[in-house]
Amino acid sequence: MSNHLFDEIRSRIADPGKVFLETADGQKLTFAGVLERSARYANALISLGVQPDDRVAVQVEKTPDALMLYLATVRAGAVFLPLNTAYTPAEIDYFISDAEPAVFVCDPKSESALRPIADRVGAKLQVLDSRGQGTLRDLADAVSPEFEDVPRLDDDLAAILYTSGTTGRSKGAMLSHENLASNARTLVTYWQFTENDVLLHALPIFHTHGLFVATNVMLMAGGSMLFLPKFDLDAALAMLPRATSMMGVPTFYTRLLGSDAFTKDLVGHMRVFISGSAPLSAEVHRAFRERTGHAILERYGMTETNMSTSNPYEGERRAGTVGFPLPGVGLRIADPKTGREVAGGAVGVIEVKGPNVFQGYWRMPEKTAEEFRSDGYFVTGDMARIASDGYISIVGRSKDLIISGGFNVYPAEVETVIDELPGVAESAVIGVPHPDFGEAVVAVVAAKAGADVSPEAVLSALQDRLAKFKQPKKVALIDSLPRNTMGKIQKNILRDEHRDAFQ
Ligand code: ATP
Ligand code: MG
Repeated sequence: MSNHLFDEIRSRIADPGKVFLETADGQKLTFAGVLERSARYANALISLGVQPDDRVAVQVEKTPDALMLYLATVRAGAVFLPLNTAYTPAEIDYFISDAEPAVFVCDPKSESALRPIADRVGAKLQVLDSRGQGTLRDLADAVSPEFEDVPRLDDDLAAILYTSGTTGRSKGAMLSHENLASNARTLVTYWQFTENDVLLHALPIFHTHGLFVATNVMLMAGGSMLFLPKFDLDAALAMLPRATSMMGVPTFYTRLLGSDAFTKDLVGHMRVFISGSAPLSAEVHRAFRERTGHAILERYGMTETNMSTSNPYEGERRAGTVGFPLPGVGLRIADPKTGREVAGGAVGVIEVKGPNVFQGYWRMPEKTAEEFRSDGYFVTGDMARIASDGYISIVGRSKDLIISGGFNVYPAEVETVIDELPGVAESAVIGVPHPDFGEAVVAVVAAKAGADVSPEAVLSALQDRLAKFKQPKKVALIDSLPRNTMGKIQKNILRDEHRDAFQ
């Protein structure tokens, strides 16, 4: 018997002496070091009583040790459960009560606030700090550097990742060894990652993007990573000359473009820039290409499905689209109500099926049943259309769809038009209750620095650009849109703010 995911990672190690990961302050971890450090943490977990299928919950800063703890958990046959470092103890209470982990690793700063929560569910509490030090590290240092991996099959769980909570309460997505392995395998080939790649890794590792897409791909490619604790503009600019590739959320790319030091010369040598987790505006795609000559490769995925679509590596990377279904992924666009596939070019909900799709929501059998069709397709909740040549464009989430006077308004369509107006930096279009229309379209607009944008000017510019029912009934100005750490616009906050606009 073997450990499905870790065996595959191990089998890709060609040169144990090669550096896998280097931090901004010059710490280096070789592939041999990856094996040793993850073995030590696996032994530490076992010594804490961790059994196969137990959850290991982790809310710690991004460090090489935190990453080794992920691999250790997989090797120990347990289920890795990372939590957003921004969550407060009150929020953590929900996750820990829901997941009932055997071990909970937190930052020493929040130890006293979190101990009662860990105690209540009987989780052993350990700490790791932003330098990778703490009780768990001490334990790992004291145990054997050898570990015999716990046998795991392809369908066994490797991780539970809670969704970002953009549209409601976060749900725990159960991901199997093969869900993770198959997706990493596919992406290495599709994006042509090799052992010569050096990835600039500035994403958080509590989310699928930085944890699975970035890390598993680099492990399986046998490449290496420049590992930043977070996205810091100056640190990224300093590291880019040594990188061949970068994965980021759209805000990383906007921030790079905001710097005069980000030039074609700085990144002329780069192989690929990849974007995802939130829509990359066509305007940023174009501006990036003008500045650097690189067409950002945008892909689409979610916690539940890993990556489902991608623009091509060779061939046109089309701005404003998420490309094609990845090899092995079945994808269709369906009527959200009937589930019937829609005719060419029409908007519907994206449904996907394949080895990438998760095993269901943790302890939510009804919710899981609701989100799967009888033939096994998972209903993503993302609305999209497919062009005649196959490129997929996401037009928003079904929960963000606005129905005004009986007409469907897709926020992305209105946002794209507003974003093109002179002086506009970005916009978010939401629906709010309206006595006559059911919902009314409201646009929240942020102006570019120094630009003079008025609600009246936006409204009048839209007169001949959009059908009447798509035009906002109100335009509100804002300094910048509220976003979470993954760069997702928090429309729920905007909807709350403008809830009474027409009441
Ligand atoms: P929750 O499910 O809790 O409301 P969430 O859906 O934001 O939160 P994630 O799983 O982190 O949690 O995000 C997945 C979503 O991110 C997708 O369903 C999609 O809406 C969005 N997304 C990811 N990549 C892209 C992309 N390239 N373009 C547009 N949207 C994207
Ligand atoms: Mg979601």
